[in-house]
This record gives sequence, structure tokens and C-alpha cells, in this order.
Amino acid sequence: MQNIKDLDIAELENKLIELGEKKYRAKQIFKWVHQGVRSFDDMTDLSMTLRDKLKKEFDLCIYTIIDKQVSKDGTKKYLFQLADKNTIETVLMKYKYGNSICVSSQIGCKMGCKFCASSKVKFIRSLTSGEIVEQLLAVTYDIGERISNVVFMGIGEPFDNYDNVLKAIHIINNPHGLNIGGRHISVSTCGIVPKILQFAEEGIQSTLSISLHAPNDNIRKSMMPIAERYSINELIDACKKYTEKTNRRITFEYSLVNGVNDTQKDANELANLLHGILCHVNLIPVNSIKNGVYTKSSDERIQKFRDILDKRRITATVRRELGSDIEAACGQLRRDRLKEDII
Ligand code: SAH
Repeated sequence: MQNIKDLDIAELENKLIELGEKKYRAKQIFKWVHQGVRSFDDMTDLSMTLRDKLKKEFDLCIYTIIDKQVSKDGTKKYLFQLADKNTIETVLMKYKYGNSICVSSQIGCKMGCKFCASSKVKFIRSLTSGEIVEQLLAVTYDIGERISNVVFMGIGEPFDNYDNVLKAIHIINNPHGLNIGGRHISVSTCGIVPKILQFAEEGIQSTLSISLHAPNDNIRKSMMPIAERYSINELIDACKKYTEKTNRRITFEYSLVNGVNDTQKDANELANLLHGILCHVNLIPVNSIKNGVYTKSSDERIQKFRDILDKRRITATVRRELGSDIEAACGQLRRDRLKEDII
């Protein structure tokens, strides 16, 4: 059966016409779905006949929570089982300004970044737009509170699933649905250049984050296979075009790895690279992963790195590490429990 969350309002309208129903019902149904009702019978302003038709045609809730861990800082990590029994993780972070959700866009990841746990397990498939949106609905239902911010920083590379991610953003954005404004949505990419250029043309107000992690090709190639495909100059060029087109500030994510990319020379080289770009740098002390080879830079090195960027007038903040005690921090998500966890 089809997941009703995969449909936007226009597609729902077509479907209703096919079912011999009135087009205007689409908005009503869309509203119910994205209010998070769990059964077609909860759609009380629809006739019994229409509810029955919908039941025959669509799945409404396809996720089961199979595990939920709560960190001492309040971060929650959900392990969801999808209709086809595959599993993904989603993280909820509580900030003063509201609830922020970190969603997955794929089951596994093909990008192979050395520091990231999501690359350590096999890639299965991309998520549909409905499966992306359902992460928000399932978590909202579980906590009974509104989610105000969405970051596409869970498992997967959003721009390797471009169309479904874009559709999910439009659905999340829709005033008849969750109504989360573009400015409250961030998409993070490891740097798929043609998609960055395409994203610039979409007219969405969301924030673009680029996982840069290195000041030059040599270091970047040692950390991220994508650097073999697009040089750092091509990447930075695309970022410049993006900011020119959208007038939106780009966030560069830079995970600091002890002895790999965290020297003062690296900081200066990074400042040269980013000079004149409308941007912000997010420094992330690299989180450890199982069987990983990288270790975090010391606080002192992180501070020195930040100070250099500061002096060179590149705004940088050090990201707070939320949820690392339950492996819910950046780069610690996987599509499944590894065998050694279960033994
Ligand atoms: N594929 C996307 C989004 C997922 S990762 C991307 O590459 O941007 C979200 C962010 O966490 C990225 O910046 C990623 O590089 C970073 N990250 C991954 N593993 C990490 C780790 N072990 N420690 C710190 N940050 C990590």
C-alpha cells in the first residue's frame, strides 16, 4: 500500500478525483495526516465511506519505535522500524528556543567519510519523502510537543536523495501541515557540487551546511572520499554562487580531529579559503565512533583554532556536544545496532 505521507496536496487531489471524491477533501486530509492522527477514523469530518476508501488505499502510520534512549542532557534517540523492517535513527534535541529534530534521509550512507558511523554499515536505500516526514510526526506524537527546527544531519547524504528531501521540505513547510518555516530547516551535505548549485535555484529559505572538515584537498581526501570527486576549489566556488544567488549565510562544519586538521597552520589556511564568503564556521570536536581511528582535539587546540579564525574575522562557534553518552551526537548514528552491541 502507498504511504499517504508521500503525497503532497496536489497529488492527494488527483488521488481523490481518481477515487470519485471531491478535490477539496485533499486539504482536509492533508491537515489531519500532518496533525499526526494515528487512524483514518480520527478524521472525524470525513464520511465513513471516504474513510474506508482511504483505509483500502493508504498506510497512515508505518513507524514503530523499537528503542528510545534518553541522554543525561535530555537528548532523545529513537530507533524506528519502517514498514519494510529496515531501521533508522532520529534524534531530538531540546534547546531553550524549542525542540530540534535531526532526521535521517537514507538507510545507511554511501559517502564513506572516515569519521562517521553512518558509513560503517551497508547502504540499503533512500527514504521516501513520507518516511522523512514521519520522523517528525512520530517524535511529535511521542513527546506531545511541537517541533520547531529540523536539521537534515542524521543518517545519509541528503543530496544523494535530492528529490525526496526537497519534497519533504516542501511538505514540512506547508501551512496546512507542520508549517515549519524554511529558516528553521537546515540541510547538511558532504559537498555534492551540482546539487548545491541546483539547491540555490529552489527559492527555499533553509540554511545550507557544508561538511568541509579540511582546509585543502590533501587533508580532505584523507577524510572524505567525496573530495576525490570534487576539489575544494570547485566546492567553495559552488558555495559562493549559492550565497550570491540566495543571500543566505552558509554554515561550514569542521570536525576537529587531533593531529589531522587542527593545527594553527590549518586554521590560517581555512581562513584564507573562506575569506570574503558570507558564512559561519561550526567547529565540532570529533565524536568517537566504534572502531574509529580519529580522536578529538584537546580543548586548548580547539580554542587556538577558534581564536585564529576570530582574528581573521571568520565567525566560528564550537558546537555543544549533545547526546554523546547515548551515541546520538554528530556522526554517531547508524541504521542498525552493530553485532558487537547485541553480544
Ligand atoms: N551527509 C551529510 C549529513 C550527515 S552528518 C553531511 O555529510 O553533511 C552531519 C554532520 O556531522 C556532518 O557535518 C558530518 O560531517 C558530521 N560528523 C560526522 N561524523 C562525525 C563525528 N564522528 N564527529 C563529529 N562530527 C561528525
